[in-house]
Amino acid sequence: MEVYPPGAAFIRGEGTTPQECEESAWAKYQHALNCSDGSGSHDWEARGYRNGAGFCSRCGTFGSQVFTGEQLGQFCRICGTGTTYHWDTDKTAGTTTFLCEKHYKTHKPTCHSSHNRPLAQLLAELLDEDS
Ligand SMILES: [Zn+2]
Ligand SMILES: [Zn+2]
Repeated sequence: MEVYPPGAAFIRGEGTTPQECEESAWAKYQHALNCSDGSGSHDWEARGYRNGAGFCSRCGTFGSQVFTGEQLGQFCRICGTGTTYHWDTDKTAGTTTFLCEKHYKTHKPTCHSSHNRPLAQLLAELLDEDS
């Protein structure tokens, strides 16, 4: 059972019966609600996630989209907008580059087949631009 209550992004109840699931989820929800130090928010940490998700360091609640690209220091390599949309890691260079949603569509890594057909790739990119 999964619930999405206000104040906690995501809670999964576990148990062998629906009743147990509900109690488990409710207990976690209370835990999450009582977690905050009065500020009303969790103490999110990214723990290596680049998609904006994170965990609360106090109660362990998982939240999606709790970080922005700016907060994570991730900026689109084309326009410089903070983004959690797409990233590429170059293992040899040890660098990671980011693309916002808009620029991912036009600059996404090309697939092997189009490497040999630059014209087809160019046309595909032009069509992409229009959409
Ligand atoms: Zn918390
Ligand atoms: Zn961009």
